[in-house]
Amino acid sequence: MKIKNYELFQVPPRWLFLKIDTDEGITGWGEPVIEGRAATVKAAVDELMEYLEGKDPLNIEDHWNTMYRAGFYRGGPILMSAIAGIDQALWDIKGKYYNAPVHQLLGGRAHDSMKVYSWIGGDRPAEVGAAARQMVGQGFQAVKMNATEELQYVDSYDKIDQAVARIAAVREAAGPDFGIGIDFHGRVHKPMAKILAKELEPFRPMFIEEPVLPENNEALREIANHVAIPIATGERMFSRWQFKTLLTEGYADIIQPDVSHAGGITECKKIFSMAEAFDVAAAPHCPLGPIALAACLQVDATCHNAFIQEQSLGIHYNQGSDLLDYLNDKTVFEYRDGYVKIPDQPGLGIAINETHVRKMAAEGHHWRNPVWRHRDGSIAEW
Ligand SMILES: [Mg+2]
Repeated sequence: MKIKNYELFQVPPRWLFLKIDTDEGITGWGEPVIEGRAATVKAAVDELMEYLEGKDPLNIEDHWNTMYRAGFYRGGPILMSAIAGIDQALWDIKGKYYNAPVHQLLGGRAHDSMKVYSWIGGDRPAEVGAAARQMVGQGFQAVKMNATEELQYVDSYDKIDQAVARIAAVREAAGPDFGIGIDFHGRVHKPMAKILAKELEPFRPMFIEEPVLPENNEALREIANHVAIPIATGERMFSRWQFKTLLTEGYADIIQPDVSHAGGITECKKIFSMAEAFDVAAAPHCPLGPIALAACLQVDATCHNAFIQEQSLGIHYNQGSDLLDYLNDKTVFEYRDGYVKIPDQPGLGIAINETHVRKMAAEGHHWRNPVWRHRDGSIAEW
């Protein structure tokens, strides 16, 4: 079997889909995207596919190593997202070729289903109590929310009080057993991060996420020694070699690599397994489309330490175009009591509605994250 050609589709709300065709008529789909830089990743996929055209799609390890190691400069969000989407499409082809879901080819299932969580509150969290109650009504057992809006290096305690009031409202609405992930979103700098974490501790969060930017991961030590809340990070980390440092330092409890950003199925399976040896859990980042979610679930299925999966159904970014719109069979991601079954059809286990993809690619998107500034005019972390 040989890779014959490929196509890229930049589709709303902010995604990029890759379709790889083979000379045997088997087609694979991937989602190579980093949010806000879809066109840049697209250019990187074009460069990487120059090598792959005419090659046997089944030799995934060798193709991965060629894409990663045979380029002198490597790593980072753009190249690793391009590799990720190509890797997903190659796994989709391999699964369809052997008539097996990807998780079977990776060793089989350690879980039959995965717990999923939903986002509430958007970029500027408000009215989160009512939103949490709505999620409880839909059967979810966990949500994630942003902790704060923009926060200065040293900011006022009223913003801490507002954050505490919001988390208190969610705990009150959802009850004591409900999982609350609190995303600091890299918005919080070290001086305020430890204050905020301490104040949130009584509400028993499921985790706090990116309490500081990944560039500042050494600051996790102080936070980890300061509060008894699981610390999650990793959506802006892209390879085994980055996670190696985080894991050996020992201050992260949950890693969150994105299967569309961190080198795909091949790389994330290795990252999760490496984390397992440190007794660290995995909760893959995925505010993305259906191909990315299917790829996550195929890896989650095989990893004992995967405990919850992010998913984007109804997320604030998806207005007008949502997760299920691009699927022929939308029941594949039917959530029951806050869990989703592992897709068990061949390949990634989903059937993409190509007619709809083509229609929406004609519309395209120009998604960019907002640019925030503090009152003094300086740039704020979003
Ligand atoms: Mg996050």
